[in-house]
Amino acid sequence: MPRVWLHFLGGAREVGNVGCTIETHGTERILIDYGLAASRPPRYPSPSPHVNNAIITHAHIDHIGMAPWLVGHHNAKLHATPLVADLSGIMWRDTYKVSSIEGYPLTWDKRDIDDALDSWQTHDHGEAFELDGWNCTLHLAGHVPGASMVELRKEDLTILWTGDIDTRNSPNVLGAKPIKCDILVMEATYAARDHNDRLEEEKRLVERVQEIRSRGGTAIIPSFASGRGQDIIKILYENDPSLNVHYDGMGTRISQIWIDNPSYLSDPSAFERAYRWSKRVRGKSDRFKALEADVIVTTSGMLDGGPAIWYLNRLRHDSANAIFLTGYQADRSGGRSLLDTGMLPIFGKMTKIDLEIDRFDLSNHAGKTELIQFALDCKPKHLVLFHTPDEDVDDFARSFGETPPFQIIIPENGRDTVIDTDA
Ligand SMILES: [Zn+2]
Repeated sequence: MPRVWLHFLGGAREVGNVGCTIETHGTERILIDYGLAASRPPRYPSPSPHVNNAIITHAHIDHIGMAPWLVGHHNAKLHATPLVADLSGIMWRDTYKVSSIEGYPLTWDKRDIDDALDSWQTHDHGEAFELDGWNCTLHLAGHVPGASMVELRKEDLTILWTGDIDTRNSPNVLGAKPIKCDILVMEATYAARDHNDRLEEEKRLVERVQEIRSRGGTAIIPSFASGRGQDIIKILYENDPSLNVHYDGMGTRISQIWIDNPSYLSDPSAFERAYRWSKRVRGKSDRFKALEADVIVTTSGMLDGGPAIWYLNRLRHDSANAIFLTGYQADRSGGRSLLDTGMLPIFGKMTKIDLEIDRFDLSNHAGKTELIQFALDCKPKHLVLFHTPDEDVDDFARSFGETPPFQIIIPENGRDTVIDTDA
C-alpha cells in the first residue's frame, strides 16, 4: 500500500513560516517552501532535516524567508519559476536589513543569500522535471505572478501542493485551475470567510480616491511590495487615468522584475503601461513632490516602517487626507495598532493619527467558497489543510458535510502525518 509521509516544520494550524517535507517509497525526502513569519520577533519553522532539493512556491517571505538557511546548512538546490528566483534576492536582502534595524538577528546572513542566489534551478509552469525520484510540474497558482502549485507524481500517486492560491482572476494574474490528484495539500488562509465581490471593491476604492481628491486631500495607500501595490496601480490607471498617483518603496523594483518576466502576467503590456503612468519616487526630492499627489501607493503594507511612515508623518495634520488599508494587518503591526487605538509608532514615538481610515478587501487568496469548490474539483482521496488559522480550521473541515468525499487531515507542526493512499 503506497504510504506518504508529510512532516510540517511550520505552517500547520497557523498562517506563515511554511515548510513541509514529503516522501514516499522510492523517493528522497523533498522540502516544499521554507519561510519565516515577519512578526516581531520573527517566527521560524523548525530546522529542516537534510534535503537535496526544495521547491519554492512563491517569493513571499513566509514561503521563501528561510531558504538561505537551507542552502547554508544543507547546500540544497532551490526550484521555482524564473520570476520567483529573480525576486528572491530583493526579498532576502530586505528581510536582512529590517531584522538588523529592529534588532532581531536572523539565523542566516548575507553570505547565505549569495549562496542561495547561486542555487536556483528554474522551471516554467507546465514543464515536467525529475527530482529525487519524483516527477514534478509547477502550475499557475493565481495569488501573485510567478506563484506555483506543485504537482508531485510517483507511479500512480499524484500529490498537489497548492502553495498560496486564488482561483479568481485578479488584476495581474489569472486564477488557479483544479488538478485531479490523490492527495491535495491545500492552504486555507480564508477558512472562515468569503470575500466581497472583487470588482465592486475595486470600484469602491476608485470612488473613494476620487472623493479624497475632490476635497483637496491625498489618499495614502500602504501596500505590500509584492502583489498588492501593483494591483492597485493597475486598478487606478484603468479606472481613472486622470489621477495623479505616486509609487514609492520596494514595490517599484519588484514591478521592474515583473516587467522583465512578462509571461507570468495576465496582461504584461497593460501592467507596464500602468507602471509607467505612475510617478515612481526615486529620491528625497521626489518624495516631497509626492506630498501633492492624489494617491501615494507605498510600503510597508502594515505600516511597520518604510516610506509609508514618512508620508504619514507629513500628511497627518490635514484632515482632508486619508489612509486606505488594503491588506491583512497582523497583531502588533503598526496598522493593527492604528485600527485598534488610533495611534501608531512614528520614528519610535507613539503618535495619534486623526485621519479618516478606510479598508478594502483586495485579497489574493481564495475565499472560503472558492476553497471548498477547488477541493471538490480536484477530486482527491485525501485533503490536507495547512496555512490556516488554528481557530478556523476545524469548522472549515466540517463544511464538507457529515460524510465528506475524501479523508480530511489537519496536520500538526513537528509530527509525521502518515497517509495510506489506498485507505
Ligand atoms: Zn503569498
